[in-house]
Amino acid sequence: MHARTTTPLPSWGLLIDGQISAGSTGETFMNENPATGQTLGQVALATAEDVDRAVLAARRAFEGPWAKTTPKQRARWLLALAEALARRKDEIAWLETREVGKPIAHSLATIAGLPGTLEYYASAALMLGGETINVSDPSLLDFTLREPLGVCALILPWNYPISLAVLKLAPALAAGNTVVIKPSEVTPASTTLLADAVLEAGIPPGVVNIVQGPGASTGEALITHPGVAKISFTGGTSTGRLIFRRAADSMKRLTMELGGKSPMVVFADADLDVAVAGAYNDITRNSGQVCAACTRLIVDAGIHDRFVDALIARIAKSRIGDPEQESTEMGPIVSRVQLDKIHRALEQGAAEGARVHIAQDLGQRSDLVSGYYCSPILFLDAGPAMSVTRDEIFGPVQTVLRFDSEDEAIRLANDTPYGLAAAVYTRDTGRAMRAVRSIQAGTVCVNQIGKAAVDAPFGGYKQSGFGKERGFMALLEDTQIKNVRHALA
Ligand code: NAD
Repeated sequence: MHARTTTPLPSWGLLIDGQISAGSTGETFMNENPATGQTLGQVALATAEDVDRAVLAARRAFEGPWAKTTPKQRARWLLALAEALARRKDEIAWLETREVGKPIAHSLATIAGLPGTLEYYASAALMLGGETINVSDPSLLDFTLREPLGVCALILPWNYPISLAVLKLAPALAAGNTVVIKPSEVTPASTTLLADAVLEAGIPPGVVNIVQGPGASTGEALITHPGVAKISFTGGTSTGRLIFRRAADSMKRLTMELGGKSPMVVFADADLDVAVAGAYNDITRNSGQVCAACTRLIVDAGIHDRFVDALIARIAKSRIGDPEQESTEMGPIVSRVQLDKIHRALEQGAAEGARVHIAQDLGQRSDLVSGYYCSPILFLDAGPAMSVTRDEIFGPVQTVLRFDSEDEAIRLANDTPYGLAAAVYTRDTGRAMRAVRSIQAGTVCVNQIGKAAVDAPFGGYKQSGFGKERGFMALLEDTQIKNVRHALA
């Protein structure tokens, strides 16, 4: 008889003041693999005391040696971090696939972009500067300095854990700030590999800290800490509102990247194959759990049926299954909680009178029973007032609406409290540009979807938030301006 050996579960620590350690109470929490429902590992829980240590360490670093670094030195550290992450890219991608449930091909492609983000901000750091101002008083030489803010709290969602961490961390450090990162409690693990990379890159202690735990305790301790100067938050609009209120007490700076219910307007002259491919991309990519995904398809009545038939045919063939297989196009939903939320939306949509189209009967698939899988779902013949048209569901779900005129298309596109992104499909450049001008959204894509560049700003209009991430603007947002009035006498 063989003795049964069990492999111990991995355990992941906090990064505080240059040390990876357990939390002060030794408590941990578990994360799981949504494809199997099995526990992946245990993560150190950061108490309010640990958060306090992390913020104080970040504050000491900010006021100490980090304050004296030149942009060039900070650029070198960012490049060293880019290399350390590049060395771990496969490990990170596999862990993110196991933790988020996204197909490995998608994780590998996303993680491959991380070094580029750091390289961009390493270059941008060298270009940060103030301006001289020709003031009307001839006795003054007036100029501005761009200075860092201090300790930035970076609060992350679960859909792209490490990519969003790096998108926030890179401009913050480039501008001379220090950071405390709090990943989502649903996906804490992949960000711990960022901690390893930070140490390997030789970034000084306290400059980057990572605390782990639920929003209501660990997150709350971080956003209310008096030592935090700025909160950069990505997550749901309701959490964003709560954080906005909390931040008001101590007047913390904010960048808010919130939810969306983005429209895709398909005009009759669009290349139908390209438009259907765009819709397919957004309903399946990361199981539809993408903030900017177009979840309201607003289609010219003249081509509505052809468009819907083609999309139904495509989602029927989507390869749904084990995210660790390279051929998989769509994995599970991130958690049981999120899957239940999608099921509730499904019931509500049906009760409100939308025609529900479920692309695949996954109940027949014995290989998927223990994971949190969900078929792509379309709500057809939906009305603009239905909850499935208005509320963010955050899953592989799209609502299809039809329009008869350009004006009606734009009215429907803007009939939402959100304004994160939009897409327009047409061969008519004038019509495309009219739509771009009229749609109230922070990003408008024309005849493509899913391509995003680190060099261009991204952020919401209306209740999708404020402030920009990506691009040079993200760097500017992590600074404050000091005006200097120097006497010429
Ligand atoms: P969420 O709002 O539930 O949680 C986001 C983060 O906030 C988590 O780390 C959570 O622990 C923390 N948090 C919760 N309550 C808190 C509190 N009281 N104090 C401090 N922190 C708190 O969002 P989620 O479910 O993780 O992510 C999905 C949402 O994120 C969707 O709405 C999606 O649209 C949005 N999102 C937006 C963007 C964007 O760029 N606009 C990108 C990705 C995701």
